[in-house]
Amino acid sequence: MRPSVDTAERPLVLIWEVTQACELTCDHCRADAQPARHPEELSTAEGKELLDQAADFGERQLVVLSGGDPMKRPDLVELVDYGTDRGLTVSLTPSGTDELDADSIGGLADAGLKRMALSLDGATPERHDAFRGESGSFEATMRAARQAQEAGVPIQINTTVCADTVEDLPAIRDVVAELGAVLWSVFFLVPVGRGQVLDPVPPERAERVMEWLAEVADEAPFGLKTTEAPHYRRVRRQAAAESADAAGAGAPTDDENRRASVLAGDGFAFVSHTGEVYPSGFLPQSAGTAPEDHVAEVYRESELFTSLRDRDELGGKCGACPFREVCGGSRSRAYAHTGDPLASDPLCGYVPPDYDGPLPWDDATDAVRAEGRP
Ligand code: SF4
Repeated sequence: MRPSVDTAERPLVLIWEVTQACELTCDHCRADAQPARHPEELSTAEGKELLDQAADFGERQLVVLSGGDPMKRPDLVELVDYGTDRGLTVSLTPSGTDELDADSIGGLADAGLKRMALSLDGATPERHDAFRGESGSFEATMRAARQAQEAGVPIQINTTVCADTVEDLPAIRDVVAELGAVLWSVFFLVPVGRGQVLDPVPPERAERVMEWLAEVADEAPFGLKTTEAPHYRRVRRQAAAESADAAGAGAPTDDENRRASVLAGDGFAFVSHTGEVYPSGFLPQSAGTAPEDHVAEVYRESELFTSLRDRDELGGKCGACPFREVCGGSRSRAYAHTGDPLASDPLCGYVPPDYDGPLPWDDATDAVRAEGRP
């Protein structure tokens, strides 16, 4: 069954990193954010051209203005306004700083902003601020969440899963519910940028977290998706198959599954602050430079993007996996660990039944291989 959004034609999510500048020094920062704006970041005119190209993907294309901290761009409201006029669904991922106040949020809401995604990596000021490297960030984030809702802008909460945050996830889930967020986006760490100093959770812990997330998704008042963890799709399939409805009537549809976790280059694309078009911010291999290269053409036709969408190209256990069409593994993590975006995802503990090739982690045990699950 084809999903209602053909991800060979358009991404579900197009991220534009409008700037690398940011005041925070978060431990996990993919962007290696800096205090100052890069002299070669896309200009206002180039940014508008990029938004014109994004509109060519089709009606209501989702464009997320990201950073760094997008609030560092003085033309941010102008860009939101322009994108909205072009029929785009424009969302924003600002940093939790004092620049995010009622006035600035009100201006963005008036320009047509459809959603604001805020990062929350701890359920208390102590835990969140330690992770984000800035005291007061938790309070600024809570305040911005309330102000966004008062301005009529729905909020999304983004959380990083790593060894430092995993114990706090249930408490963070409660804060997400209390805030009235519409979506919880749970990002499984990819060791890129400053994130290389953090410890990821091991595969067996990731599996338990995904099983727990599937339960949360069934009960929570908000939507839930994972980032860089498409094996969440496999976990949900397996849970549905193991449930009383063995026929799979309760299993997520292909479209729900894709929305539950989009993949680099397959439902997801990223334009860097200097216009490089990457499959993801965590897979910094350039397939073209926007706006000189049309972003839709790069997404649809470049060799890198088309190979990432072809599950027959996958190597290792991902290539032998019966779930490769619904999952496919994190191409970004494979790239970060091996330099090959088509290699196996080392965070996934599943071993395909008849697979006896190399495993992507060092300490695999016979028990893991025999059970096929951690
Ligand atoms: S082995 Fe690869 S394709 Fe299969 S479930 Fe794990 S990450 Fe997904």
